[in-house]
Amino acid sequence: YSENGSYSRALVAENFHRFLSTNTGRKLQDKVALITGAASGIGKATATQFINNGAKVIIADIQQQSGQETAKELGPNATFITCDVSKELDISRAVDFAISEHNQLDIMYNNAGILCSNPPSIVDLDLALFDKDMSTNVHGAMAGMKHAARVMIPRGSGSILCTASVSGVMGGMGTHSYSVSKFALIGMVKSLASELCKYGIRVNCISPFIIPTPIAMKHMSEIYRHLDAHKVVEIVNNLGVLKGAICEANDIANAALYLASDDAKYVSGHNLIVDGGFTSFKNLDY
Ligand code: NAD
Repeated sequence: YSENGSYSRALVAENFHRFLSTNTGRKLQDKVALITGAASGIGKATATQFINNGAKVIIADIQQQSGQETAKELGPNATFITCDVSKELDISRAVDFAISEHNQLDIMYNNAGILCSNPPSIVDLDLALFDKDMSTNVHGAMAGMKHAARVMIPRGSGSILCTASVSGVMGGMGTHSYSVSKFALIGMVKSLASELCKYGIRVNCISPFIIPTPIAMKHMSEIYRHLDAHKVVEIVNNLGVLKGAICEANDIANAALYLASDDAKYVSGHNLIVDGGFTSFKNLDY
């Protein structure tokens, strides 16, 4: 019943919708999200979490086969588009695809990232590989920001996310190039948040601890090249400082769900560190 006592189906429907979105975990009901690098790891876990919360998700990834398989696995609310984030045209097409398929883009998650093998000493640095890390991790995310903003500004709303890293919070984690790219990404989030706040668009990033996905396993296996993969996963899972827990892709998906949803409606320009406290008080010694 409305304030004047008359029965309103629309009001009942609206309240029921609000109840569903706040009380049953469907925090992204009817939202459309584009997630780069969602054929694997953190992106895939986030796509799953977003769909479980009522969103329609576009999986944008450079890997065509696993991207298509992921979309099939996640069901009718997932679609796949081939996209190399280091190419602006691919990003632009992915954003246009979201609009043509769903008429809106509410969440842009710039998650795709790479970590090129580069010698540990700056003296031996291969600058071509530095450029490669930057072109995916920084240039790719900047292009994602630009094209998401292009369609979000006219609507006056939107949530943009990025996956940074603990390597963007402290030195000595990962390669120099990777670390520099993730520091840049956190700076990008703060800079873009300052412009886009006036359009009601929030910009945030997440800095995960080490999770044994392909990107981390490749890097760690190069460090521990004498050990087999199982042993390396065991080492990765023991690097954390929080007793009784390991960092998993789903922990990042939960953080992304929070930042993408109205639960974080007043959170912008923030770097949400999901590391069990690691960067607050302990240095990695490997
Ligand atoms: P992952 O290897 O499981 O997934 C990375 C995905 O990005 C893959 O599907 C890959 O195909 C895609 N990708 C790579 N280059 C691309 C490009 N140019 N265009 C489009 N897609 C591309 O690794 P993940 O751990 O899920 O990594 C996701 C993000 O999390 C990355 O940005 C990574 O730097 C960051 N991160 C990972 C960890 C970790 O330990 N796993 C820690 C901190 C941050």
